[in-house]
Amino acid sequence: MDLTPFYARISDCPARDAFVHEEKKMPSTAEMAAWKPSEWTGGTFHDFAEEAFMRDVSRPLALYVHVPFCHHHCTFCPFYINQTKKGFSKDYTELLLREIEITADALKNVADKREVTAVYFGGGTPTDLDEADMASVITSLFDHFNIPKDAEVTVEGRTTGFTASKAKTWTAAGANRFSLGIQSANTALRKRLGRISSREELQDSLDGICTSGSSVIIDMLYGLPGQTREILLDDIDFISNKTGIDGLDLYELKIFPGTPLDKAIKNGKIPPAPAFGDKAVMFSTAYDALESTGFEHFSPKHWRRNPRERSLYNRLAGMQCDMIPFGSAAGGRLHGIGLGNSRDIKTYRAQVEAGEKPLGRIMASPLRPAPEGFNQVLASYGENLCLPPAGLWPEPHRAMAGKLLSQWQDAGLLRETEGGLRLTGAGYFWTQKIKGLVQRFLQTPAQ
Ligand code: SF4
Repeated sequence: MDLTPFYARISDCPARDAFVHEEKKMPSTAEMAAWKPSEWTGGTFHDFAEEAFMRDVSRPLALYVHVPFCHHHCTFCPFYINQTKKGFSKDYTELLLREIEITADALKNVADKREVTAVYFGGGTPTDLDEADMASVITSLFDHFNIPKDAEVTVEGRTTGFTASKAKTWTAAGANRFSLGIQSANTALRKRLGRISSREELQDSLDGICTSGSSVIIDMLYGLPGQTREILLDDIDFISNKTGIDGLDLYELKIFPGTPLDKAIKNGKIPPAPAFGDKAVMFSTAYDALESTGFEHFSPKHWRRNPRERSLYNRLAGMQCDMIPFGSAAGGRLHGIGLGNSRDIKTYRAQVEAGEKPLGRIMASPLRPAPEGFNQVLASYGENLCLPPAGLWPEPHRAMAGKLLSQWQDAGLLRETEGGLRLTGAGYFWTQKIKGLVQRFLQTPAQ
């Protein structure tokens, strides 16, 4: 077999140079809104919920609560739906509490037969809910579902409007993890993204929230318009040395066509995002800085400072666990049935007030088959951000796999550890490419 097409380029910056970059087109906000599901003929939620819920009790179970309201539209975001208005919290909380009762009623004979592994409040901006309102929703979920003490209960949001008092009250109600989108600690970049608080205000908020007893996780972005390697390193210094956060997620900024940020770049009002090579250098630098300041890269896109951070929900979501949706525009699934609550808030309200589970779409959503054979080996090593050593690769590819892995090591994409061949920062940057190459390699006849 000619291995040349699988080899990485050798250079002093493997994150930038290892392979040829192929630009991926993001869907536009209009395309996302226009998506229509196929017709469903399997009855109402009350007809199928209990049977679907019990079909495979070995699967992890999550509850997802969506709060599709934001104080204002962050410029990069394709998920903004409704603006937070006065009185929204009480009003929306009443609907959520009613929906929880409706859902629990549909599952009344079985709800206590499965333990919930993770509860996630996503949005939108769940932290915009008033203190007592969010506490009552958390309490209601604990009252109606079998949520053990060690379940992960996350409330997502942003620091503006999220007080230390809210964090304490919600922790007392059962939350144990707050996930906050800060994107950058640089005041000028934050403003460009529509984040209104300054770095100093951000730090005050984080200090208060970190006293709650819950884990605090932040989202950061790289590849922002105007962001440089130095700014990103300064952000990492800030979060490492001036905050008590437990972990962070680091994502590349994707510019979705139709968002305010996309329009502002096209109109020349702000500079374009850095070019691919600059982003690769930024990621690689950030990766090394996180490692050297004590953050462990423990799952794709997640770093932690201590084992309190488990990122259970994110990991379960990737495993197609069963997930019961609550709230307008929430999505979930029950063993092969995809569930989407009504996105339009008026429709959602009318359904809840009529005593129905407020689903806007129900559709067959066949489960991806579990990986088998060597793909299962790849998946289990992948969980630890590793590739299996050559001796575990299937024949007749084993000898060639040894050569390929050794070339990727020489190119700076892998390093040998006790747990297998671990992806370096550059290797992780090229994960999708490497996954594709591994599959192509296995499908190519070994001569
Ligand atoms: S708060 Fe979150 S969901 Fe709302 S507009 Fe900003 S990024 Fe989007």
